Amino acid sequence: MLGAMQDWELRASLLIDHAAREHGSREIVTRWNDGSESRTNWAELRGDALKMVQALKRLGIEKGDRVATLAMNHGPHLVSWYGATGAGAVLHTINPRLFDEQLVYIANHAEDRVLIYDSAFQEIVDRLKPQWTTIEHYICFDNGEFADWIGAEDGEAEWVTGSERDPCMLCYTSGTTGNPKGVLFEHRSNILHTYAAIMPQCADLNSRSCVLPVVPMFHANNWSFPWAAAAVGAKLVYCANNDPANLCDLIEREDINYLAGVPTVWLSLTQHCEAQGMPLPPTITHAVTGGAAMPRSTIEKLMRAGIRIAHAWGMTETSPIATIAFEPHDFDLMTFDEQVTIKARQGKALFGVQLRIVDLGDPSKELPRDGETSGALQVRGPWVLKRYFKGEEDCVDADQWFDTGDVALIHPDGTLQLTDRTKDVIKSGGEWISSVELENAAVAHPAVAEAAAIGIAHPKWDERPLLVVVKKPGMDVSADELRKLLTGKVAKWWLPDAVEFVDEIPHTATGKISKKDLRERFRDYRLDG
Ligand code: AMP
Repeated sequence: MLGAMQDWELRASLLIDHAAREHGSREIVTRWNDGSESRTNWAELRGDALKMVQALKRLGIEKGDRVATLAMNHGPHLVSWYGATGAGAVLHTINPRLFDEQLVYIANHAEDRVLIYDSAFQEIVDRLKPQWTTIEHYICFDNGEFADWIGAEDGEAEWVTGSERDPCMLCYTSGTTGNPKGVLFEHRSNILHTYAAIMPQCADLNSRSCVLPVVPMFHANNWSFPWAAAAVGAKLVYCANNDPANLCDLIEREDINYLAGVPTVWLSLTQHCEAQGMPLPPTITHAVTGGAAMPRSTIEKLMRAGIRIAHAWGMTETSPIATIAFEPHDFDLMTFDEQVTIKARQGKALFGVQLRIVDLGDPSKELPRDGETSGALQVRGPWVLKRYFKGEEDCVDADQWFDTGDVALIHPDGTLQLTDRTKDVIKSGGEWISSVELENAAVAHPAVAEAAAIGIAHPKWDERPLLVVVKKPGMDVSADELRKLLTGKVAKWWLPDAVEFVDEIPHTATGKISKKDLRERFRDYRLDG
């Protein structure tokens, strides 16, 4: 016997229909690179997306076909999210910062038929066009091209219907080895994830939120903001230039109260405000962060400014939010330090996601949630990946557990604490050293702009930590001072054997510290045995 509720397929078009109907005049603002701004709203966006549905049909795009974008954050890019998925196609957001080789591989692997791109990436397009074997149509977002393309249609169209399990978005994630892998989101997985994301206990997004997602639209579903903001009628502000002075100006001008970005964004924003002798923008009430560990010192600064931090952990493969550090029932009774500790951890599983840690060498052995034992983090749930796009086999075990490649411990109260990436842990004398904890402790020094710890081969201990540090402009700190600072904060045998000061630490295409490049750079580094 089935239940007796209505038959609704959970598709992305429900979100934009809802936003247009219930929050039609709520704005979507874009600040372009030249500083000019353009404005639309949810109702207009729906109209434009329907025109795009017609325009795609005219190009012969059919259900399941891939429509790619190579673009930064802006309103027309958002139109393409709803336009492509509303046409039953799969929107493939490509990261323009990838190497040529990867850009060629992923567009061909995805079999993209259309590419819509920013004129800023015209050079990439011209260069790679001969190698992209499946793209038939190139449309530029700027120079009036995209507007003319959809503007030729009347918008009298219907969304393409289908199953909620149809694919909806495609996003490639570059692992540390091999070719990038495609994560194929479904309409249903996105909608379920949206419900979870807007919970007060999660990102606490609501109709009063005026959100600036600094995270790129090509990264991990844009942390779900295009969907979640539509669900609650939030105002969305997009901006291509993430220079902190520009962000501060935009925040003030648009009354932004909600900002989402990786820790480096928060670091540069707090450092900018400190250097200018000004407080953090007072309108900001909500901060979402994730993608990398957020240093405790930055969390403290935001909390002192009265900002509620939603520190999330997730990955492209988990749509992306899986856990979030929300306030437990006794949060107000805690000391400030205890509260910071809660926020510095990666939080608890959202309803819909399950977590466990298993032995690094033996995944069949589940480890206790004792706050001490760390192991390989595994997750499962309806918005967690089962198989990579075109993968030959599932990448989950028989019980659907997906190995995240992260190393973590789980505290008795259920809070998750990431200690490393499986590939980044430093193994010294058979014991694990968390590079993340060393980095967090180091960036607490006022003269440290950024820090990264990597393992260096050691004749006796196998590996020992090297701390690589970027100093803040005009400030100084010595290796000894840093070692002193770390003493007491981490176990004595974790203290880095050496500290190297550099001008810049390499970052990945998504703005994270690239340990792979750093290890390569220090490949021949020798520690005294
Ligand atoms: P991506 O798929 O590019 O979003 O990368 C996901 C990876 O980023 C995760 O597997 C973690 O290694 C890392 N990550 C995400 N969120 C956090 C966080 N809050 N703290 C530490 N690392 C994180």
